[in-house]
Amino acid sequence: MANSVFNVPYPVNEPVLSYAANSSEREEVLATYSALFNQTIEVPMRIGNQDVKTGITDTLQPPHDHQHKIGYYHKAEKKQINEAIEAALSARKKWSQMEWTSRAAIFLRAAELIAGPYRAKINAATMLAQSKTIHQAEIDAACELIDFLRFNVYFMQEIYENQPESSPGIWNRISYRPLEGFVYAISPFNFTAIAGNLSAAVAMMGNTVVWKPSDHQIYSAKVIMEVFREAGLPDGVINMVFGDPVMITDTVLESPDFSGIHFTGSTDIFKGIWAKIGANIHNYKTYPRIVGETGGKDFIVAHPSASPKEVATGIVRGAFEFQGQKCSAASRVYLPKSLAQDVIDFVKQDLNGLSMGSPADFENFVTAVIHKGSFDRLVHAIEQVKKDSDAEILIGGTYDDSKGYFIEPTVVLTTNPKYFTMEKELFGPLVTLYVYEDADWKKTLTLVDQTSEYALTGAVFSNDRYALEEAFQALENSAGNFYINDKPTGAVVGQQPFGGARASGTNDKAGSAANLMRWVSPRLIKETFIPASDYRYPFLES
Ligand code: NAD
Repeated sequence: MANSVFNVPYPVNEPVLSYAANSSEREEVLATYSALFNQTIEVPMRIGNQDVKTGITDTLQPPHDHQHKIGYYHKAEKKQINEAIEAALSARKKWSQMEWTSRAAIFLRAAELIAGPYRAKINAATMLAQSKTIHQAEIDAACELIDFLRFNVYFMQEIYENQPESSPGIWNRISYRPLEGFVYAISPFNFTAIAGNLSAAVAMMGNTVVWKPSDHQIYSAKVIMEVFREAGLPDGVINMVFGDPVMITDTVLESPDFSGIHFTGSTDIFKGIWAKIGANIHNYKTYPRIVGETGGKDFIVAHPSASPKEVATGIVRGAFEFQGQKCSAASRVYLPKSLAQDVIDFVKQDLNGLSMGSPADFENFVTAVIHKGSFDRLVHAIEQVKKDSDAEILIGGTYDDSKGYFIEPTVVLTTNPKYFTMEKELFGPLVTLYVYEDADWKKTLTLVDQTSEYALTGAVFSNDRYALEEAFQALENSAGNFYINDKPTGAVVGQQPFGGARASGTNDKAGSAANLMRWVSPRLIKETFIPASDYRYPFLES
């Protein structure tokens, strides 16, 4: 029985390894990649204490080599989803009553496993499943997931320490109860770290979870589950299911014990789920917590005082790393006429030097987009631009899906600030530039604010402090993560808590105490040491 107030280790961000030529980490990850690439794995679901194989399967293949099979996974029918809900509800009591320090220890151990023995495997799995270069895999699957786990454990302690004032003769306390019921986590394909965090953040606070990863991240989701289990996560706390997202979601939302959703993915899907929760509201035992981080149409706006080279670097890194498939990726850029040509020339120079291909070849900066649906959406957009008179392709615009889903990094120039590629999330390596008259800086800020339904990330480049102030004020509600003289991507846990508003999400800031607070229901306890024994107050005296 613990009778002390313990402190968890102070979190520090996991250092990013370089994978430079001849480094040991480079050799290890390449050997692991090659071993995984040359085998076919079977991925069962994990429900309670069972590896569940239904025999209804689908194949897994790397997006950069879509004819090559690396595994197959089992899909659920309604029966298995109900079993996953049951498993979560059965595990709840013991898990929620476990000492919080033991829960902390499990997730801290998971962080250490990823930092050490599982680092090469989770990175190689992410390179294979999601076609990330080693650098993109390292900052996501290794470092960001480790950071989520370490920092969230620390924030959990801060939450528990947060206690109300007491007055003489009275002791006020708050206990941070897990939610009653179970929580549903739905994760996107694009970040292994998000996939791990959506269930871990909820479970850490004492809840049990049904987790549905994206069909396009299952290969690395399997490694996350291996890590959690090796770290000592008890059976039934996180139940991982695969299959038809609509069937799974409808089954989960039918349960009266559904107590919350932790979603990351696209806006329309989230709105649809929200509407279903609303339609079911009378069936639930408690008001479900609804947390969703969704799409973006992230901007870079340059003031005439900006450095063209810095703006160009922000565009190249912000728009094309991981093929533009970050929710924070820059996809619309506003350039003043006086700088536009210089910026375009620098971007051209950079893109000429970029190579594209398999992530196993470390010279490649860009690899494939995630799947055929994404490839087709981008091809359609590129072909539309070629036809339209108010836009043109400045750089790129080619594509090839004969081996993998490759789209060349593409820069579009438009004369129409409301052109569809300035408004619509395309989620790929395509960025659109709009050139404004230098004198129209203020009008342009209004345009930036009003062009898209999203408000996730945005960046302003300027060396004029008054202009920065203007942008800061005019764009107050245009981005939940606002960058000054930096690219709009690359948020680090513990340093830049992440999330946007408007159609970009509920802005509960992943990797912060604000997010963890959504997974508890505080109970206030007031204890009076000497209770009152007379109902009359002094004012009642005549
Ligand atoms: P997606 O919306 O296609 O899928 C997300 C998850 O929802 C997957 O698990 C998918 O299987 C599931 N899903 C799909 N249809 C569903 C339905 N009808 N009902 C219930 N679940 C359903 O998104 P994606 O392509 O995996 O990821 C890209 C999207 O995620 C982009 O819009 C991106 O901006 C967004 N994203 C946002 C953030 C953020 O923090 N704001 C972070 C990462 C990704």
